[in-house]
Amino acid sequence: MKAIVAVKRVLDYNIKVRVKADETDVDIGNAKMSMNPFDEIAVEEAVRQKEAGKVTEVVAVSLGVKACEETLRTALAMGADRAIHVETDEKLEPLVVAKLLAAIGQTEQPSVYFLGKQAIDDDANQTAQMLAALINAPQGTFASKVELEADKAIITREIDGGVQIESLSLPVVISADLRLNEPRYIKLPNIMAAKKKTIEKTTPQELSVDVTSRLKVIKVTEPKERTAGIKVANVAELVSKLKEIKAI
Ligand code: AMP
Repeated sequence: MKAIVAVKRVLDYNIKVRVKADETDVDIGNAKMSMNPFDEIAVEEAVRQKEAGKVTEVVAVSLGVKACEETLRTALAMGADRAIHVETDEKLEPLVVAKLLAAIGQTEQPSVYFLGKQAIDDDANQTAQMLAALINAPQGTFASKVELEADKAIITREIDGGVQIESLSLPVVISADLRLNEPRYIKLPNIMAAKKKTIEKTTPQELSVDVTSRLKVIKVTEPKERTAGIKVANVAELVSKLKEIKAI
């Protein structure tokens, strides 16, 4: 059983972003970039499934600029067997990413696609769902537990007020939630070994996917500064202040 894992290069989650002076985008000029945290969880899951003997090959795929190679090296160091880079300088929106993953899937024929539930840069939470629709496969989104069997995947998802357990036929698209697992710490020898592995290259043109954006960003602005709060001396004062602003 082959698994494809989609890994996106995003601004590191510890970095505070600043909006560009011309308000066209956020400024990621020299900022630290990392693998999208949910994708790390997706890689970890694919690798664990391989270690458990359920998956035979883990193929990491990243789409974007040349530097996505670093993200793929991280996936290889975590235990992915192969890496595919779809190189483009275009800004890719979820539908295009889903189309590119579907095109790669046509050649690779995986039984499972692991994605993150959302990318922390665009916060779209759309790619897994769109991919499932494009390839007409079932989707197990926001998975907090994955059990793979020969012909199906049993997915546990956290929903309001409980958990939902789904039995889905293969091939399946799974998106990883935060509680699915805790990604491993990568050891130095694995980082060194990953440096030697080849990253297969392709382009959207080779995959016959039009990457033209259908969305136009009109303006990007900083959130409004919050006005400072006040300290109250006691509960009585708190209640009177809340009444003043008609909160109670
Ligand atoms: P999104 O729908 O943009 O929130 O992204 C959801 C998931 O799709 C991510 O967690 C990744 O697994 C995958 N994904 C999105 N964009 C890319 C990309 N450029 N390269 C690889 N995977 C991606």
